[in-house]
Amino acid sequence: MTRRDELVGVRPYPVWHGDGLPPARSAPLAGEVTCDLLVVGAGLTGLWAAIEALRADPDRDVVVIDASHVGFGASGRNGGFVSASLSHGLGHGHATWPTEMSTLLRLGDENVREIDAFVTQEGIAAGLRWCGQSMVATRPHEVAGLRELHELHQHYGRESVFLTRDEMQSDVRSPTYLAGIHASSGGLVDPLALTLGLRDAAVRRGARIHENSPVTSISRDPTGVVIRTSTGRLHADKVVLATNAFRPLLRRIRSYVLPVWDHVLATDPLDAEQLASIGWDQNQGMRDSGNQFHYYRRTDDDRILWGGYDAIYYFGGKTDEGRVLRDQSHRLLADHFRATFPQLGGLRFSHRWAGAIDTTSRFTPLFGTGLGGRVAYAVGFTGLGVASSRFGARVALDLLAGEVTERTELSMVRRKPVPFPPEPLTWPTVQLTRAALAREDRNGRRGRLLRLMDRFGVGFDS
Ligand SMILES: Cc1cc2nc3c(=O)[nH]c(=O)nc-3n(C[C@H](O)[C@H](O)[C@H](O)COP(=O)(O)OP(=O)(O)OC[C@H]3O[C@@H](n4cnc5c(N)ncnc54)[C@H](O)[C@@H]3O)c2cc1C
Repeated sequence: MTRRDELVGVRPYPVWHGDGLPPARSAPLAGEVTCDLLVVGAGLTGLWAAIEALRADPDRDVVVIDASHVGFGASGRNGGFVSASLSHGLGHGHATWPTEMSTLLRLGDENVREIDAFVTQEGIAAGLRWCGQSMVATRPHEVAGLRELHELHQHYGRESVFLTRDEMQSDVRSPTYLAGIHASSGGLVDPLALTLGLRDAAVRRGARIHENSPVTSISRDPTGVVIRTSTGRLHADKVVLATNAFRPLLRRIRSYVLPVWDHVLATDPLDAEQLASIGWDQNQGMRDSGNQFHYYRRTDDDRILWGGYDAIYYFGGKTDEGRVLRDQSHRLLADHFRATFPQLGGLRFSHRWAGAIDTTSRFTPLFGTGLGGRVAYAVGFTGLGVASSRFGARVALDLLAGEVTERTELSMVRRKPVPFPPEPLTWPTVQLTRAALAREDRNGRRGRLLRLMDRFGVGFDS
């Protein structure tokens, strides 16, 4: 097979879409509308915000509005790894909020338990399963890092198993694996099915949804907030902004969140012989442990979804759909897949896509309020928002209500991450940082730039 063949005929949309893009189901905003709570953004964060607001007060008049359609953004394109972590992983949380780590772990565990209960109660068929996750070392210097992470799991009383090269090979077979850890926390889901299930649950509770309605302006008036689209005007008492990596409506958020494009491939379904050649009987989510990492998993129809590694920031923070097909990134991913599973040489790719990740310099969201406390936002989940988006939505509702809760008292809520420099400095800063991260991946040494950034609590991740 030639290199070019890899991408020919590959469907240019997420594997979760089945045979094509899910159509919008609700009408655009039209004319003059009023509501108690408006949620901008119909992804996981926005839908959880609507559901939780209606759970607290079933009589509340809630509208959810989206520029495109439900699940258009990261929520309908992600890898479907469901992590309990609210701190972008145990290692990062321990390094950044050591004194609050026990609280963060407890809140994260409660969050996934409540997601599980809600999905069961609502009968959402999204293939949610709690299979744990494995992380593998593929370079000799990464083995020590995995051991440290395993010890950190023990320190916090989290279940994890360290696997030697041979043990790892008998779990999942790849010539690239040198060691691994398997953590029992976490699971997998079909993220688009989850998002659409949350949409239905929100509608059942009375939320009204308007798709194909990009909000172009937001302003305050004496009794609330006014938003405009090209076809309508909406007056709300309060607003939650859940717009993720897309251009924020409030200027104050702009310097904190960078849209970073993450690329993904899916293969054709594996047959029994191909499955037997890799093992992977626990069917868990997998990732490797470099700064630039791949994440991969099997789907319910036994494809392999293979994504990550090449996180691309475009000058000026572009988020237009023209970025979804980047041959260079998809080819690189294909090469890495072939190197990881050479025994699957004949397997073809069926889907390829990309999505914008809302990256902050601290890898966890930015929370806050604007327009006199009538607008709250939760953006910046940095590639780990499938579960933590629900937590973020609840923080935004707490802030809107002016309530002091255990959530709003967390340092990660009260303090903002370090902002990114404005263009034309953002792009070169990201490129320099990516190069330094790639160097560390190659030689195992944290260079001067990264050490300096560590001192200021800033980084770049996806
Ligand atoms: C390729 C990829 C893989 C990922 N893998 C994982 C994973 O495996 N596990 C994990 O935990 N996380 C993962 N993530 C991150 C996760 O998907 C996100 O953190 C999460 O989906 C964020 O949900 P959201 O609702 O905040 O944003 P989104 O789902 O992006 O929703 C935002 C919505 O806001 C709408 N919007 C934006 N601006 C406007 C406007 N002006 N007016 C109206 N509507 C507007 C958009 O149309 C969009 O639908 C991944 C992300 C990507 C891109």
